[in-house]
Amino acid sequence: MQTQITFLGGAREVGRSAILLESDKHILLDYGIKLDHKTEYPLRIKTKLDAYVLSHAHLDHSGFAPILYSGNYVDAYGTPPTIELTRLLIEDALKISRRNRQKPAFSKGDLRRFERAYKPLDYYSEVDVGDYTISLHDAGHITGSAITLIENRRTDKRLVYTGDFKLEAQTLQKGAEVVKSDILITESTYADREHPDRSALIKSFVEEVKSIIDNNGTALVPVFAVGRAQEILTILYQHNLIDYAVIDGMAKHASEIVMRYPNYSVNESMLLGAMKNVTWIGTERSRKSVTSPAIVVTTAGMLNGGPVLDYILDLNKRSKIFLTGYQLEGTNGRRLLEGKPIVIDNRKYAIKTPVAYYDFSAHAGRSDLFEYVRRSNPEKVICVHGDANVAYNFAESLKLEGFDAVAPQIGESVKIEF
Ligand SMILES: [Zn+2]
Ligand SMILES: [Zn+2]
Repeated sequence: MQTQITFLGGAREVGRSAILLESDKHILLDYGIKLDHKTEYPLRIKTKLDAYVLSHAHLDHSGFAPILYSGNYVDAYGTPPTIELTRLLIEDALKISRRNRQKPAFSKGDLRRFERAYKPLDYYSEVDVGDYTISLHDAGHITGSAITLIENRRTDKRLVYTGDFKLEAQTLQKGAEVVKSDILITESTYADREHPDRSALIKSFVEEVKSIIDNNGTALVPVFAVGRAQEILTILYQHNLIDYAVIDGMAKHASEIVMRYPNYSVNESMLLGAMKNVTWIGTERSRKSVTSPAIVVTTAGMLNGGPVLDYILDLNKRSKIFLTGYQLEGTNGRRLLEGKPIVIDNRKYAIKTPVAYYDFSAHAGRSDLFEYVRRSNPEKVICVHGDANVAYNFAESLKLEGFDAVAPQIGESVKIEF
């Protein structure tokens, strides 16, 4: 059947992922926001939807979903942990916009209606929407992250949307499942580079953290609340460093949710061990009581807010900052890496503490992206969720391998037989 796919966001950019499928049924895949200097939203939807599928909790996929419930209703699908983690992240985003005196784009009521419309779907369980069967598969990115498979029962064709995925296993996630497809919509975040070998990376991270501890300093580890925080804590537990670790901010609440869904992690007993032994910081006062040697695991991962900014100004000379993920242009994290002063409440602070960068990415690197496409074996590949040049060049390289590949622009529609 002739189907139109429109890219409402996340096309030749990273952020505000939103993909609309239109045939006799209208299905929306993700509806996220882009958190740059200001919040950017995906294009609005003008048709009535039959289903909304959420790949995972990160705001660049989930952050605008509540607007779909502002006076409307649509059945929403995603894994059980995804809705809980999404609620945590969206409520925090609402809090931040209130603090910055910005008018939020949707209300708490919209968020509640979204939650009520959400039908949790475990990996491999199926739901029918007209002639289409939707199922979710492990994406190996964060807890609950899913690759979406839509099968047309009349034509037997398979459309797969990877969302964010990682093929290689992480400490708490097994690698993504390769799902066979006729049409593959794939992320392309790191299509231009490889990630370092994970076990070598963990080894040098642990060694460097240990040397800071031995020297009576503080290892400050800014993390993304969902995913990275739990990975780092588990690594610290595995290497007998957990007794020095404290966890603060949203990372703490996200970890509590992750622990409630042990079936969505591997090594969940180690995560449990980590959570039992880490020191939980609940108040600003107890934050002040943290003394060296310590390993502070806290948000925000790019240092644009959160308790990490309290800690960073109090570090002693023997301390070090360990960035553990991608630092977006313009963020304090990026400024630190470039040796520039960071900005807190419009004031500039020169940070003298040394900074290390560890690429604990939860995305597939270049060769794994190619490997996924080859093994999924589609007729058509659509490259999304990558910076403009990266997504474009990825599609061009796939063409050289004989795939019919495109990297659409925002607002563009692609027509397919599905
Ligand atoms: Zn993500
Ligand atoms: Zn993403």
